[in-house]
Amino acid sequence: MRLNTAAAILLALGTVRVAHAQPPGRVVEAYFLSNEVYFLTNGRSNALGVVTADGIVLLDAMAAGWGPAVLDKLQGLTDMPVTAIINTHAHEDHAGADAEYPEAAQIVIHENSRRRLARSAGAGKTFKTFSDHMPVTVGKRTLHVYYFGKGHTDGDAIVVIPDIKAAYVGDLFAEKALPIVDPASGGSALALPETLARAAREITGVARVVTGHGRWPGSKPNTGGLQGWYTWNDFREYAEFTRKFVDAVTAGWKNGRTSEQVASELRMPEKYKDYRLDGAKAMIETIFNELKQSPAAKR
Ligand SMILES: [Zn+2]
Repeated sequence: MRLNTAAAILLALGTVRVAHAQPPGRVVEAYFLSNEVYFLTNGRSNALGVVTADGIVLLDAMAAGWGPAVLDKLQGLTDMPVTAIINTHAHEDHAGADAEYPEAAQIVIHENSRRRLARSAGAGKTFKTFSDHMPVTVGKRTLHVYYFGKGHTDGDAIVVIPDIKAAYVGDLFAEKALPIVDPASGGSALALPETLARAAREITGVARVVTGHGRWPGSKPNTGGLQGWYTWNDFREYAEFTRKFVDAVTAGWKNGRTSEQVASELRMPEKYKDYRLDGAKAMIETIFNELKQSPAAKR
């Protein structure tokens, strides 16, 4: 109510900029990253806009209903339309708005995620899928999409923007916290550490890392890094963190501990003290369920 009153007063005073007014209730923030690449966030999930001579390549589209707010924000920064989208995976909070960018003719997505994408999200779009690696060139700017195996889902892409030495890693490394694994989308907690380790080994030339959720330079706490962004070293450390966690839980399972016991006994090394460990119980149960189904694992 109070906001509406304030808005009414501002309107009366003629101080509201109508041209780039955001749709009510949906606020997208943008930060300049480097060389015409913009980081976008709605506070829940993140995205990147890469400006090329043939339009903007949007890395993740945000949730259904957010397309107009994203477009509105981008149009305040450049007059280029969004002509292509790369989805890091098929989850609604990253791909739900795919159909809301009228000039985006092409959507790039991993072949497994393509099968999982909601029909409404992909309505009317042309899809280009990949299995392991594919360069994506738009307006002379080349990005690379990579797939290294199961993790958060079974179709997580890492998008590398070589000219600014940046990687957008989606929910494979969503933030410095316990990973979220979605078994219903083919995700695997047991496979995740090796998937991340492969990415850390095989991708070269990346300095900055942008995550699918969480921190950006304007957020708190900002613990430094490369002008506030995560670095490739952070990514490498995250891969090791997930390995340590999965190994500790696997050891507990092999020793006959219950998921509750593993959760209460869990101690992570001091170097991971700034990682959030909430949600440990659910993650431990995901790992236990996978171990029970794994022919290689013996208790
Ligand atoms: Zn996700």
